Amino acid sequence: MLAGLDTDYYNYWDDFSVEEQERLTELRSLLEREAKPRVNDLWAKEEFPFDLVTPLAELGIFGMLFDESKRFESSARFRGWVTLELARVDASLATFFGVHVGLGMNSIGILGSPEQRAEWLPKMARGEVIGACGITEPLSGSDTAKGIQATARRDGDDWILNGQKRWIGNATWSDITIIYARDVEDGQVKGFIVPTDTEGYKAEKIVNKQSLRIVQNADITLTDVVVPESLRLANCNSFRDVSRVLRHTRSENGWIATGLQMGAVELAREYALEREQFGRPIASFQLVQDLLVKSLSNVTSSLALLERLATVTDRGEHIDEMASLSKAYTSVRARETVSWCRELFGGNGIDLNYSISRFFCDAEAVHTYEGTREMNTLIVGRDFTGIAAFV
Ligand SMILES: Cc1cc2nc3c(=O)[nH]c(=O)nc-3n(C[C@H](O)[C@H](O)[C@H](O)COP(=O)(O)OP(=O)(O)OC[C@H]3O[C@@H](n4cnc5c(N)ncnc54)[C@H](O)[C@@H]3O)c2cc1C
Repeated sequence: MLAGLDTDYYNYWDDFSVEEQERLTELRSLLEREAKPRVNDLWAKEEFPFDLVTPLAELGIFGMLFDESKRFESSARFRGWVTLELARVDASLATFFGVHVGLGMNSIGILGSPEQRAEWLPKMARGEVIGACGITEPLSGSDTAKGIQATARRDGDDWILNGQKRWIGNATWSDITIIYARDVEDGQVKGFIVPTDTEGYKAEKIVNKQSLRIVQNADITLTDVVVPESLRLANCNSFRDVSRVLRHTRSENGWIATGLQMGAVELAREYALEREQFGRPIASFQLVQDLLVKSLSNVTSSLALLERLATVTDRGEHIDEMASLSKAYTSVRARETVSWCRELFGGNGIDLNYSISRFFCDAEAVHTYEGTREMNTLIVGRDFTGIAAFV
């Protein structure tokens, strides 16, 4: 058996096959070797490590769900652990992955025609084409199901897109961006694969973010962007179809929130054992152990929830509300955990060189994107009470 993680306290790792453990260990080694030493610097400079895309793609992790060549079968829990391993080192890298694979590839994989899947997914799996996905707009975030204002107008064999998108991950450098826009004819949301070199498509980097600074987010403006009918996602006929994509990404975000907590707790334990006050390591003080164990408990409850979610997903019994509950729960736990871990670092907790402040800041965006805590809570509340509180 390969080594698991101390923060996997109930040892879910051992439930993986040797082959799965090998694949996850390969990913972990790559991240520890190639990403960990420089993520603080990248975070400070708001830069993305483009050179990591190919090595990550070569591990086969981009094509896990929709790899037509079926190089290997992957379960929901294996896919979850891939995200967890990425977030344990850096939540921005996990977010890049979640946008390219979860939002970009899944939009085409779930809503595309067989031809669209065959055209785009293999290239995206190899990292030759990078994806982004525009749902959110300047005036529509939590209410996107009803609030999307970007428009799509049919014009012969083409569609003309107009409008704006905000916060779109990877979009400063993506090769294609999936744009969800409202069909002016029937009022329903449709999806479009938009090559980013199309005339009228403009993406501007959002600068000075204080969270997930390594991910490149963009404000997008669409001015009479012409897209052929062949690039309209064939099976996207309303926002209900978009939700089929979001179901996956919401689950994945729970894994990001959990991996991020693991990374923070590992840092905190290491620091507590090294740092001495009153002539003893601070780990020997009861109140410091309390911070560590409360944080470990959060990791453990988050992981248990996600492991169960993965099991029901693999059985095909996964419902949207389960993903919402796990996203809301784990992201709230993540906020608590990074705050306790940062506290344990004292003044060094706000020095980026100690890494913990990166985890602290990154937890904020994870708490907000893919549906805020409030929205995911209301989605579960609607299911549990039968009453929708947000329409
Ligand atoms: C780093 C980052 C990356 C992102 N990447 C992408 C991406 O790749 N693609 C994409 O499409 N989007 C992306 N987003 C957008 C993200 O999904 C939205 O920020 C999120 O859905 C919240 O929308 P908003 O920011 O407009 O907040 P708002 O909707 O304006 O919400 C503001 C506050 O009001 C609360 N609120 C709103 N409605 C209600 C209600 N009915 N009841 C109670 N409270 C309510 C919210 O919970 C929140 O606290 C990203 C965002 C960030 C920060």
